[in-house]
Amino acid sequence: MSFKALGLDPNILTAIEEAGYTEPTPIQAAAIPVVIAGGDVIGIAQTGTGKTAAFTLPILTRLTANPVPQGQRRRTRVLVLAPTRELVAQIEENVMAYARHLPLKIAKIYGGVGEKPQKDALRAGSDIVIACPGRLLDLMDQRCADFSQLEYLVLDEADRMLDMGFLPDIRRVINQLPKKRQTLMFSATLSKEIETLTHEFQRAPKVVQIGKRANPAETVTQLVYEVHKHLKMPLLSHLLKDEKMQMVLVFSRTKHGADKIAKKLESTGVKCATLHANRSQNQRLRALDDFKTGTVRVLVATDIAARGIDVDGISHVVNFDFPHIVEDYVHRIGRTGRAQAIGDAISFVSPDEQPDVRKLERFINRGLVRKKAEGFDYNAAPQPFIDERPERREQRSSQPRRLQGGGGRPGGGGGQGGGRSGGYGGQGGGRPSGQGGQGGGGGRQGGERRSSSGAAPRQPAQMPQQNTTPDGARGLWKRLTGR
Ligand code: AMP
Repeated sequence: MSFKALGLDPNILTAIEEAGYTEPTPIQAAAIPVVIAGGDVIGIAQTGTGKTAAFTLPILTRLTANPVPQGQRRRTRVLVLAPTRELVAQIEENVMAYARHLPLKIAKIYGGVGEKPQKDALRAGSDIVIACPGRLLDLMDQRCADFSQLEYLVLDEADRMLDMGFLPDIRRVINQLPKKRQTLMFSATLSKEIETLTHEFQRAPKVVQIGKRANPAETVTQLVYEVHKHLKMPLLSHLLKDEKMQMVLVFSRTKHGADKIAKKLESTGVKCATLHANRSQNQRLRALDDFKTGTVRVLVATDIAARGIDVDGISHVVNFDFPHIVEDYVHRIGRTGRAQAIGDAISFVSPDEQPDVRKLERFINRGLVRKKAEGFDYNAAPQPFIDERPERREQRSSQPRRLQGGGGRPGGGGGQGGGRSGGYGGQGGGRPSGQGGQGGGGGRQGGERRSSSGAAPRQPAQMPQQNTTPDGARGLWKRLTGR
């Protein structure tokens, strides 16, 4: 199928050609005709498969087919809502490229930067507004936007936009839009519960679904490294010795965790940037830019980077912390393997994170391959944990030194195993390494097989039991601190 056969405007076809696209992706081939025909759409397709063009190209075609009559005041005709600033910026870049031969004004609206240019752009009547809901609501409250003539609403990453965190804002925005409009929702994941919610905002939507609802891109190899929490950092450094890990996106569950990982990597000579909500918008944009241009090899981020961000050539995604929410996993690993490229998604899983892995395996309907890093000491003793946050540093210096509750924090690994396995032991134990388990129809059993009686027996934990060492607390303190 060609783009021409989809009935797109000739100026848009030229722009697509200039972008180097030769044929539509499956989601584009399926969604574009429905949108051009005027229908509401729920588009579900894997991450990185061209969803932005799937909604932008037909909307641009319709805008061009029905231009605003000469002399009439310009008003916003299209509103695209997306969950993060980076995604808004990226969608705007795409829309600008596809609309480069059309006389359209495009505005992007998000927080963390000055309001004035955004207010001006809204007041001037931008044809297309791409926005994060929070800042948009602020500006709508200040009566800067005129959506009275709005014809198209798009929710990108729709499942995120309709989850509990965003839903009240989304409702407030949508309640101020004309009821007669075309509404498009796109996402890589969309649960049935969220789909039910879409009826509130759409009219008889056509569901256009490519592949399974929850599938990560097939070009991504997914691997799990079972490792105690205290060994995650050394394992990351160990893996980064491999030059094949050229462009690595590391996900941390917390902002502080992201800073800590970056700091440690920097101290070993690995160039890093960080991306999370505590950083200013300029810092966030610079981090992304440094990563895109190869100035830094590793970007350490929280889940704000998990959705939609399209960076060419990410070779590896590392889940330093395993996500609690299954959809977040799918979106995180979708940052690699984009547009048919190949990528690896590596998850570090400590014993307390195993339930989340099993939940994910049920969700994606297959077991993840367990791998062991060659030459890595899975039994290494914990290093002393030094909390570098200023308040903790102050606390430390004002307190006499003492051991906390039997080794406490540094012991992370040994105590975490809980009932299930007692933790991860030496090299030989656990699951088959390599990729044999993936794909081959193992599906769900992949997860179950491992826990069946035929599974390789787990080794007992070989972590040092810190509070039972023969040399007692004094010896432990010496081992941890060298003093
Ligand atoms: P998206 O899922 O919209 O973030 O797009 C993922 C990547 O695929 C982006 O880098 C797009 O530029 C690229 N892309 C989108 N449509 C096509 C196409 N038809 N042919 C080749 N690349 C495409």
